[in-house]
Amino acid sequence: MNKIAQIFETLEYGPAPEAADQAIAWLDQHERRFGHFINGEWTASGTTFATDNPATGEKLADLTEGTAADIDQAVNAARAAFGPWSALSGYERGKYLYAIARAIQKHARLFSVLETLDNGKPIHESRDIDIPLVARHFYHHAGWAQHLQREFPDHVPYGVCGQIIPWNFPLLMLAWKIAPALAAGNTVILKPAEFTSLTALLFAEICQRIGLPKGVVNIVTGQGETGQAIVAHAGIDKIAFTGSTEVGKAIRVATAGTGKGLSLELGGKSPYIVFEDADIDSAIEGLVDAIWFNQGQVCCAGSRLLVQESIEERFITKLKKRMETLRVGDPLDKSVDIGAMVAPVQVERIRDLMGRGVAEGALIYEPDNMTLPDRGCFLKPALVTNVSPANTLVAEEIFGPVLVAMSFRTPEEAVALANNTKYGLAATIWSENINLALDIAPKIKAGVVWINGTNNFDAAVGFGGYKESGFGREGGREGMGAYLRPAWEKDLKPFPSPNGEPIEPRESATNPLDTHLDQTAKMYIGGKQARPDSGYTRRVLSPNGEIIGEVGEGNRKDIRNAVEAARAALGWSTTSAHSRAQILYFLAENLDYRRDEFAARIKAQTGEDGTDEVALSVERLFAFAGWADKYDGAVHNPPLRAVAAAMVEPLGVLGIVAPPSRPLLGSIALLAPALAMGNTVVLVPSVRSPLSITDLYQVIETSDVPSGVVNIVTGDSATLAKTLAEHDGVDGLWFVGDAQASAMVEKASAGNLKQTWTSRGLYYNLADRRFEGDYFLSKATQVKNVWIPYGA
Ligand code: NDP
Repeated sequence: MNKIAQIFETLEYGPAPEAADQAIAWLDQHERRFGHFINGEWTASGTTFATDNPATGEKLADLTEGTAADIDQAVNAARAAFGPWSALSGYERGKYLYAIARAIQKHARLFSVLETLDNGKPIHESRDIDIPLVARHFYHHAGWAQHLQREFPDHVPYGVCGQIIPWNFPLLMLAWKIAPALAAGNTVILKPAEFTSLTALLFAEICQRIGLPKGVVNIVTGQGETGQAIVAHAGIDKIAFTGSTEVGKAIRVATAGTGKGLSLELGGKSPYIVFEDADIDSAIEGLVDAIWFNQGQVCCAGSRLLVQESIEERFITKLKKRMETLRVGDPLDKSVDIGAMVAPVQVERIRDLMGRGVAEGALIYEPDNMTLPDRGCFLKPALVTNVSPANTLVAEEIFGPVLVAMSFRTPEEAVALANNTKYGLAATIWSENINLALDIAPKIKAGVVWINGTNNFDAAVGFGGYKESGFGREGGREGMGAYLRPAWEKDLKPFPSPNGEPIEPRESATNPLDTHLDQTAKMYIGGKQARPDSGYTRRVLSPNGEIIGEVGEGNRKDIRNAVEAARAALGWSTTSAHSRAQILYFLAENLDYRRDEFAARIKAQTGEDGTDEVALSVERLFAFAGWADKYDGAVHNPPLRAVAAAMVEPLGVLGIVAPPSRPLLGSIALLAPALAMGNTVVLVPSVRSPLSITDLYQVIETSDVPSGVVNIVTGDSATLAKTLAEHDGVDGLWFVGDAQASAMVEKASAGNLKQTWTSRGLYYNLADRRFEGDYFLSKATQVKNVWIPYGA
């Protein structure tokens, strides 16, 4: 061995502790007791709970349990502040955000040390990652504030936002929530996690110090009940939540029917895929970061290693060797890799999950050359092998330093394993073959994909999940848009009578068979006409009660068949945008060719001249054919050696329940944007006048629309909507109907957290050309950010 290698082999690290005296002095200055920060002032402390240093078990401070009355007070303050704050020019608001960014940089070390004391994360992470990213977030959004009117014309802030954050990145999650909210002109009430509230309280002081107007930012500490009180408060216009999928679902249910905006950033079980041609040493270093960063308490942790079988043995051997060199210990030591878990309860939870995994056959490797500190919440890094996809450790989010490893043979198998999860937050791909990596990236169902890198985050790049990892994005343009809504939405009026006045059926004066043969309007599933499973039909009446036709009474089975057909047709999403555009143009052409017949059908069902409605429907198909190859993504340029391609992807299978009025346009206005963006659709046409759409399948059949891309199920809107909402094979659901049924749809959608849009009993005039643009396009899509190494 040469001399230098020898030195490295024998080199002993000495401790390199960061001093905590300033952070301790700050706590002492507050007598280690905090109230809430409401309306720019500190409240007296009430009933308290302790916040501890998880590395030592020592108490750091007492925090106040936020009550419903506290939330009320905070909402009143935020409401009063909203008017003047949102009326400021973007430049004025931007100046405040800039001042916050500067203040965070000036006090960066205090924030870092306090974060590490409270959370247990290594100081090198809080110092080099968390706090710099917090400052970056406020800088980035200072710019958005100023450019908002130009970039989001005719949009307004929600109003008062309730924000609930977890304990894994306390100040960073605060920044992700508060910066865009304030830039947009909202005011906020934020509840930090019970274990880690201290940096949020220090942040409150920064708000005071820079002279942020009172009530714009309110921080209320507390536990789960305080979060519940925020979610339940009628004076809050939008909820933004980061945390567990379980609580995310409960919040979806609690906000159903309230009209509150909602974004959910939830759990994950992200795959880390290593192909045989990867640079193995880099992939191992990446993996260390993916799973042991922040002790694995990261929603996007690369916790499922999928390694190609041909290199599995070599990779695992190297990985074990690398694990032996990780240092676990005092988080304030600058050379420590793995600090303390956030709290004893988390350690117990992880041990319990590991016990279950072992009982199911898992083998666990933990380096035996390391000793853990004799107090505090420490765990060794662990590697789990001998598992199948059904093992608890593979299926559940562990949120700890536990990596599970499985192997695959082919790229197809890698994709199948990667997607075999209810989550869809992030994924990492390692390969020196850029063709392979870029072939796999679009096939992974996740909101973020890192190629030959991992855990890259930036304010300019959206972050958020697919499937049960939630919806909405934080960061980037999408994240900014999540705190704004179209100005016209607040002027919507209730739909007077969503189903129209009831019509009594009556016998026709003339025998219909005098003019034409009996017609049977079928459903349309998987490119074929289908009879209703129920064997029942429902009558379609003219406005004066004459029976003008019958359609099938769709049921649960028909919806199941339609969803199956729509899932089988998902190849539509990878058809080129140009092809989708051509097909939509062709649909328009074929509909136009039969315009008189369709106009007559509208008249028969509604009594109104249908000429304009058909013309508008043709125009709408044209509009979205035009959008198919134009509503696309962006390339972000984060301050890292990478670009992030923000790819616009369809939701997948979309359920659409059309309004009762405008039998043709009501469906086309929703169907066209969904199809343009590559979704496949289960369409429930107008409950009252479905014949325009049962006629439409003849047009669909002659327009090259692939089988299963559009499926039509007739029947009762609310009943079929409920089945669609409960179906786990449906990724999104748009529902036009009354407020009660809309609430039901939102509630029932919580099972797989499908993205919903409901009309909530309000009148959306779908003939309006404002619906020809991005309103529905944005709802038909989600953005996947693919990080690609780039540049010097
Ligand atoms: P939670 O989802 O319970 O907590 C997140 C935040 O929501 C906290 O501020 C919490 O308050 C608050 N909260 C809890 N219950 C409710 C409720 N019913 N309504 C409104 N707000 C509520 O996560 P936990 O901290 O309990 O962690 C449990 C597990 O969740 C972890 O082990 C991990 O697996 C996962 N998790 C995932 C995260 C992610 O980003 N994906 C982040 C955090 C946790 P309080 O802290 O006082 O309980």
